[in-house]
Amino acid sequence: MYTYDYVIIGSGLFGAVFAHEMNKVGRKCIVIEKRNHIGGNIYTHKTEGINIHKYGAHIFHTDDKAVWDYVSQFTSFNNFINSPLANYNGKLFNLPFNMNTFYQLWGTITPAEAKYKIAQETKAYRLAQPKNLEEHALASVGLEIYLKFIKAYTEKQWGMSPTRLPASILKRIPIRFTYDNNYFKHRYQGIPVGGYTSIISKLLDGIETKLNTDFHASPDEFRSLGRKLIFSGKIDEYYNYRFGALDYRSLRFEEETLDIENFQGNAVVNYTGDNHQFTRIYEHKHFEFGTQGKTVITREYPIKYTRDVEPYYPINDVLNNDTYNRYKKLAQTDGKVIFGGRLGDYKYYDMHQVIGSALSKSKKEILATKHIYEK
Ligand SMILES: Cc1cc2nc3c(=O)[nH]c(=O)nc-3n(C[C@H](O)[C@H](O)[C@H](O)COP(=O)(O)OP(=O)(O)OC[C@H]3O[C@@H](n4cnc5c(N)ncnc54)[C@H](O)[C@@H]3O)c2cc1C
Repeated sequence: MYTYDYVIIGSGLFGAVFAHEMNKVGRKCIVIEKRNHIGGNIYTHKTEGINIHKYGAHIFHTDDKAVWDYVSQFTSFNNFINSPLANYNGKLFNLPFNMNTFYQLWGTITPAEAKYKIAQETKAYRLAQPKNLEEHALASVGLEIYLKFIKAYTEKQWGMSPTRLPASILKRIPIRFTYDNNYFKHRYQGIPVGGYTSIISKLLDGIETKLNTDFHASPDEFRSLGRKLIFSGKIDEYYNYRFGALDYRSLRFEEETLDIENFQGNAVVNYTGDNHQFTRIYEHKHFEFGTQGKTVITREYPIKYTRDVEPYYPINDVLNNDTYNRYKKLAQTDGKVIFGGRLGDYKYYDMHQVIGSALSKSKKEILATKHIYEK
């Protein structure tokens, strides 16, 4: 007999949604978290009356009504729309690339003028099959936009030249011929009123949760505690790196409280030149239209991943995906554990995708184990 039905490793969005769904149908869960707080990377805390996104700016956005309705049970959202700015060597431009950006760059007024200008800019670079990110960017937006907004930013973000990165990292570069600075095209968007941590607290309400506890300190003990293990940590670490280590990109956050009301007048400003090592500054109060007397800003520095820093971004290039697929195959033969979330699935999930995935994996598990619980 097991003490728990599910031992859930990680109290981030994946672990919390999975635990909530299992608890709802009467399955006994415990959540194990190595940090000293719940919430994983969406954790927010208050400084000077302002909700601080401790692990990077988080904007909720989705087109999926079911996910939006689900998360709305645990919070209400304000009407924040993400409209970041780019600061290139002291000059400001709107993002994503749209009619405002083209006006700021070239003084074009009409969509026809802007389209003509982009066609001129890209003429020399059109290729059927761009081999790397630089070729892809030049073919899509031309030299000036590439040099001002993409080259140095990408070098800082990934720690290597865009000529060494696959074209797929940038996917499609969004170009809009409207004066629309709304970064996400999704139908539902906002910031949870009261911060993200309270969503996780509500999801975990009534579920035993142990903080400051690393699964890897006593893996056999945690495995034997429950009928099944739900694992939202690193899949390569779970299997003791037997197929080799997966690569990640990490970040360093430099938080500063300033004795002024308003530092940059916008929630997110990207620094796209090479004269600063950070990629972004966010000013947290602007996510919530705050009017506090002070303000808190965070500078975000991408850094090399080593095992003693947090693995924020999976690097889904061919080599890493091959290694991940070997771990995934192994996991499919392992009836004891279900992997999920950004680190468990080694995927660049946004929050709405993590919720969708946790809902579908928990539903599948409930159906597959019905015969055990409904005897
Ligand atoms: C800088 C940044 C900005 C982002 N911005 C956005 C955004 O604007 N919009 C959006 O939708 N998404 C955004 N995301 C993505 C979002 O953070 C993720 O989709 C979501 O947090 C993933 O949840 P998770 O549960 O998979 O992982 P995590 O939040 O990483 O949770 C995993 C948890 O497991 C714990 N854990 C790991 N290993 C162990 C272990 N061995 N023992 C015990 N506990 C363990 C960790 O401490 C962590 O708490 C951003 C991500 C980053 C890094």
